[in-house]
Amino acid sequence: MPSLHTNTRVRPALAGFEPYDPAFSVCEVNLSANENTHPLPESVQNAMLDAMRSTPLNRYPDPLANNLRDELAAWHGVQRGNVMVGNGGDEILFNLLFCFGGPGRSLVVCPPCFEEYKIFAKMCETDVVEVWRREPDFSIDADALLEAARGAAIVMITSPNNPTGDLISPALVQRLLDQTDALILLDEAYIEFAKKGSSLVSWVADNPRLMVLRTMSKAFGLAGLRCGYLVANKEIVDVLAAIRQIYSEDVVAQAVATAAVRRRSELEPTLASIVGERKRLCEALGELPDVVLWPSEANFVLARMPHAGDVRARLRDEYSVLVRDFSYAKGLGDCLRITVGTPNENDRLISALRDILQG
Ligand code: PMP
Repeated sequence: MPSLHTNTRVRPALAGFEPYDPAFSVCEVNLSANENTHPLPESVQNAMLDAMRSTPLNRYPDPLANNLRDELAAWHGVQRGNVMVGNGGDEILFNLLFCFGGPGRSLVVCPPCFEEYKIFAKMCETDVVEVWRREPDFSIDADALLEAARGAAIVMITSPNNPTGDLISPALVQRLLDQTDALILLDEAYIEFAKKGSSLVSWVADNPRLMVLRTMSKAFGLAGLRCGYLVANKEIVDVLAAIRQIYSEDVVAQAVATAAVRRRSELEPTLASIVGERKRLCEALGELPDVVLWPSEANFVLARMPHAGDVRARLRDEYSVLVRDFSYAKGLGDCLRITVGTPNENDRLISALRDILQG
């Protein structure tokens, strides 16, 4: 069969992209993708099932998911017009770059951070300016960030950051708002695991250039459902509403997410358990020889250890425990990212690592 030479046919900016690889292998314990591995409380599961059962599938979805927007708006103390729902936070990130990026414009990021920002920026022909975090604490060089942000269309900051686990300082966000003209996207995908009061979502009301991204994939345990949302100025939401895939959020996702958000207070014990397990996991890992950890406000911890790539392979192959290997990535040599699991899952991981590192 002659080749189609797709690389010469595809839009030049999109040539050479590879499909995203979540580095998944089937394992008994999967601590690789920062999901919530706890079962949701039965009352929440039942509410979601009821919502699913009463959702007709023969009708198109409400394009903007207004019931869900109303629920989210009430939660965050904003109006429906300040909320945009998407098929996962990923869709919203892409649409932000599709809307506000483009040739001649730039996105500023602070790596190591969530890699999709850069990938989506490249797809949208947006230049990427990287302000690398400093070793060894992964702190952000505020002056360098402000300098880069002054010429940028968008700045994307993750708080808590994936994979380093730290929160951005509110003072730095304030400086970004005061001293630049860029749109500032604060990605709070993991904020429910951070100490209370860490979210800056309430700042959106007074800061039209601040946008806060949240997701149902982490604390809500609904990564498979694909639902994320943005809290932002109405003008930004209106632009996103005009360019989005009309029916990207399906009826089941809308109904289930609405039921889950209504019952969010029932998730508190699970979140508290994950935070407690994070502490226990860090204490146990900290006792292992030559393991370096960074303090985390998220549902994962970053751990540096000798021969991390081999350790990850042995965890997978000999102990059926999957964690994420970042040892190939710039700035993250010999680092593994480990999702905080259930007490049993964490025990499995700790005992396997003890065997491997002390054995
Ligand atoms: N932001 C960050 C920092 C993430 O880690 C993720 C997912 N891993 C997302 C956004 C997107 O999540 P989702 O598309 O599942 O909402």
